[in-house]
Amino acid sequence: MCGIVAYIGYREACPIILKGLHRLEYRGYDSAGVALLNNGELSVYKKKGKVAELEKFIAEKDTLANIGMGHTRWATHGEPNDANAHPHYSTSERIAIIHNGIIENYAALKEHLQQQGHVFHSDTDTEVFVNLIEEIQKKNQCSLEQAVRLALHEVVGAYAIVVLSKDNPGQLIAARKGSPLVVGIGENEFFLASDATPIIEYTSDVVYVNDYELVVIKDGEMDLRSREDVKQTPYIQKLELELDRIEKGGYEHFMLKEIFEQPRSILDSMRGRLELEAGHLNMGGVRAYERKFVNADRILIVACGTSWHAGLVAEYLLEDLARVPVEVEYASEFRYRNPVITERDIVIAISQSGETADTLAALELAKSRGATIFGICNVVGSSIARATDAALTPTPAPKLVWPRPKPLRPR
Ligand code: GLU
Repeated sequence: MCGIVAYIGYREACPIILKGLHRLEYRGYDSAGVALLNNGELSVYKKKGKVAELEKFIAEKDTLANIGMGHTRWATHGEPNDANAHPHYSTSERIAIIHNGIIENYAALKEHLQQQGHVFHSDTDTEVFVNLIEEIQKKNQCSLEQAVRLALHEVVGAYAIVVLSKDNPGQLIAARKGSPLVVGIGENEFFLASDATPIIEYTSDVVYVNDYELVVIKDGEMDLRSREDVKQTPYIQKLELELDRIEKGGYEHFMLKEIFEQPRSILDSMRGRLELEAGHLNMGGVRAYERKFVNADRILIVACGTSWHAGLVAEYLLEDLARVPVEVEYASEFRYRNPVITERDIVIAISQSGETADTLAALELAKSRGATIFGICNVVGSSIARATDAALTPTPAPKLVWPRPKPLRPR
């Protein structure tokens, strides 16, 4: 999962963006880049490799700007190299974009754009997106915002994007469908990121952008609209992340940190929930679905990577303790077949970030078939936490009495 960070405000943007990219390193990436907008100049710097390589590369450059965006890429279209790294310019170099996700119809769009004279310098689907915006703006003689909105109707696939243009020097535009995007709201400044980790040290007021929403930030104001140009009321949430939880805390790698943190993590996840003496387990989010759990025909666990492995352990435990059949599915496989799911199924989606795209798509599929969805993730307010019927996140919740009530029907 690659990363997005952007800033607009009164501070110097570049250091905030680079720090933010470091915070997103845990997601994995192959290259990194920044675009900075200053005095009508739009500069793009990008490099294959670590954020540290990018920092070395731009050390001697003029990076003074109050508006900018940065990206860590995980290649899907085109090999990891400098040219394919984001941000990408449009043909005229007046617009730049960063993008998380995949544009599925990029080949047809690219052919059309090439016929219109657009020149491509990378193998990415993303460069098609930015040229599409430019083409639409040229053809319709419309605002950048309108061109982005129209382009969103043309692309098929998943995206979180941020767009800068030298013709709109005080403006930042972002949109999302299927890839996460969070706006941080400070005093006369705004932050954008794939998750809240780059934002937390500046502000705890955030808005999670929903699918098909477009954000325009200018003149110290944020305007949130649907793809159909209907004004939306932003739902401002308070972040509850701790900064030390998202840093390496003296360990050389995040993996080492996570291994050594396991005892604390287990203790923390039990804290406030397990009342050993009373024989109670408090899981407030699940309370309303208690009977569905008790009467489930089957539990399906969908996850990716390490979360999938955690699911395999959960399968043993759940079958042993609850005597309910459990299946563990790789979310990316699950979503691309036609799985048998019924209203009597419980689907548990596990994701550390709460933003894993395949897991989110898998749970949306299960939801559309009527299953009850339960999410286990580490980030309150994340996409998965919000998309589920009931979620187990790090916040201690009100009481659910355990042992469980009698099943409604005999097994
Ligand atoms: N599909 C885009 C690319 O290959 C974005 C990949 C990403 O999400 O980092 O450049």
